[in-house]
Amino acid sequence: MRERIVLEVSNVAKHFGGLRAVDDVSFNVREHEVMGIIGPNGSGKTTMMNLISGALVPTAGDITLDDMLISGRPAREISRAGVGRTFQLVRVLPGLSVIENVMAGAVFGHKRLWGREARRHAERQLERVGIGHAAKLPVSALTYIDEKRVELARALAGDPRVLLLDEWLAGLNPTELQTGIELIKSLRDDGRTVILVEHVMDAIRSLCDRCVVMSSGVKIAEGTPAEVLSDKEVIRAYLGD
Ligand code: ADP
Repeated sequence: MRERIVLEVSNVAKHFGGLRAVDDVSFNVREHEVMGIIGPNGSGKTTMMNLISGALVPTAGDITLDDMLISGRPAREISRAGVGRTFQLVRVLPGLSVIENVMAGAVFGHKRLWGREARRHAERQLERVGIGHAAKLPVSALTYIDEKRVELARALAGDPRVLLLDEWLAGLNPTELQTGIELIKSLRDDGRTVILVEHVMDAIRSLCDRCVVMSSGVKIAEGTPAEVLSDKEVIRAYLGD
């Protein structure tokens, strides 16, 4: 059975002056799917994530979430509408405890919980990502992977319709990487709809149902990891990197 479409990117462009960082890109993401956005450095992947989350406004084109037009709206409204994200450079709030960081996601995300309910929900997300024991610690006391877990728990606490992971696995050592891949796999098993930007090929192969491949702002391929990674144009784009 075909899953319904949750997010639709239609003819989206983002120009910075004369530079076409994203140029007429279209794709859609189905419910419960893990969609990878891959491509060489500078191909427009992060710009695409910023367009979906509302950090950037497209120069042209539309992005819809559950048939609601979200492009052009402020990032906080898009977050409320159900787009959760983590950032390429981890952005925990350093003055707050672990649980407070995650509660921020419950309060400001799609879920909109308050007080004790937000705290309980946040505690569940911490358990979910494997650091329930760290709830009361200041985030400054955490290791790098645990900071990443906090960020992931915060995004999950908003109960997003679509979760954006921007190189969530970057900077992890080989052991942590395996742990991280298993964690994201488990989110997929939960039925989350995920869009991830990733460079780690093992992760792309084992996590993504489909991938969009970008090069110089343009979508050059779309399909399963096996399909796109054997595509001649994709191989050429990576070798030219
Ligand atoms: P990727 O994530 O694939 O490495 P980016 O989306 O970060 O690529 O960047 C795509 C292109 O857009 C690059 O040439 C980059 O220098 C440019 N770019 C990204 N953000 C800006 C910006 N705010 N202003 C000007 N150019 C930008």
